[in-house]
This record gives sequence, C-alpha cells and structure tokens, in this order.
Amino acid sequence: MDSLVYTISCHRNFIIDAADDMSSVPDNLSVRQLFDRTSSTCSYLIWDRASRVAAMIDPVHDQSQRDINLIYKLGLQLKYTVETHVHTDHITGSHVLRQVFNAIVLVHENSTAKCADVLVKDGDFIPLGMNRVDILYTPGHSNGDICLLIPGAVFTGDTLLVRSCGRTDYQSGDPGKLYDSITQQLFTLPDETIVYPGHDHNGQSRTTIGAEKQYNPRLGGGRSRKQFTDFMNNLKQDHPTQLYAALPSNLRCGTQLSGL
Ligand code: FE
Repeated sequence: MDSLVYTISCHRNFIIDAADDMSSVPDNLSVRQLFDRTSSTCSYLIWDRASRVAAMIDPVHDQSQRDINLIYKLGLQLKYTVETHVHTDHITGSHVLRQVFNAIVLVHENSTAKCADVLVKDGDFIPLGMNRVDILYTPGHSNGDICLLIPGAVFTGDTLLVRSCGRTDYQSGDPGKLYDSITQQLFTLPDETIVYPGHDHNGQSRTTIGAEKQYNPRLGGGRSRKQFTDFMNNLKQDHPTQLYAALPSNLRCGTQLSGL
C-alpha cells in the first residue's frame, strides 16, 4: 500500500494524459486534479462533458502555462475560476486565466478581494452546462472560505484536508467556526462522498467524508468542539513561506505578480 501511494504521489505532476477521474462523479461531469509541488496545492478542473464548459478551482500562478495548455488540449471553454478562499501560501492564477479565457473570477463575498467579478455566498451555484456546482459557506480557516459541491464529491479547499484541516490563525480564522463548518455541513454529507482537498502534504490526494468522520485526528471520532479548539489554539506553525507575496497579490486576484 505504501508503494502505491508513493507512486501516485510522485507522478501526479504528470497526469496530463491520464484518464479523467470519473470514479466519484456523474457521467456528465469530469474532474481533473492538478498539483503544485512548491505549495502542495491541489487545483481542480471540472467540466460538463456535453458542452465542454469548465471551471478551475484554486489555480496556481506558477502553473498557469500548464493549465492553459491542458484547457486547450481538452477543448474546454473555461468560464469560471473559483477561489475557495484568499490563499496565503501561493499566488493565484485566476487573473492569468481571466486574461487568456475571459473567465469569470469568483470568490466569497467576505474575502475583500475586490478584483473578483462575482462575489458569491452560501446557496449560490455555478452552472456548468446542465449541471450545477453548489457553494457552501464554510468559515473557520478564514472568514471567507467556501466548499464546492457536486453530486458525489466535495471540493473542500483548506476547510477539510486528508486527516487534517486548515490553520485558523490568519484572516479572521476561528477554530470554533471551523469545527461547526466541518461537523454541521461537511460531515452531514453521505459517507461515500469523495473529498477533494486543497492541499496534499503527504501523498494522499483525496479522501471521503466517512473516513474523515472516523479517522481525522483533529475532529474525527466524535471529538468535541472544545477538544478541537484547544488543539488548534495550541498549534505552533511557521508562517506560510509565501505569505507576504501571496496575500496582497491574491487580494488583487494575482494581478501584481503578472504585471497586468
Ligand atoms: Fe489556505
């Protein structure tokens, strides 16, 4: 099992020709997970097979050329880029994709990213052909985090990671709110729901709601809100390495870095 995980992890940067990840989503939607090794960020390209209308979740600026090439190669019409939150650990590729594809940039209304074309809120949805991507407001990692739900799968950004979760010490983060977002929203989804996380720090590219409910060491196994908040409040973590470049740039959708 260890060697299988290792193999998948090592080759995920090169899955451009791999089959679509169809194991968890309806026949008319496709999902492609992409990876930025520097920031361990997972980006996702999802599209409606019939219309080829696509959305990119959490693109990374340094991977923009890769993403542009892939979108052209797949013959997709990129209509949307979506930020699950304003990131502190990488610079978004949203502005570049907006320039190239005329894509609409979406972020949550609490993000203060005035560069966005559309500020979304809980209950909104993104139309993808005949499908829809539902937006869940899941504060806690920051006060502007969203998760994106399609039938059978949820894209969780930094709200819920594989056996972990996002930190709560920046951008009005709040461990109590994060606990509530995860336990009252994400953990009420069917156990078999695939979780596509915003980061992969240990070679595990996805998980399920049921597995995290049971095994997540921070808040799985029935851990209480107090146990979780105590744990998060005592976490000693270094600053994100790209914090001082990423945050101001991302509040402008990556425009400073690209010079546009
Ligand atoms: Fe984050």
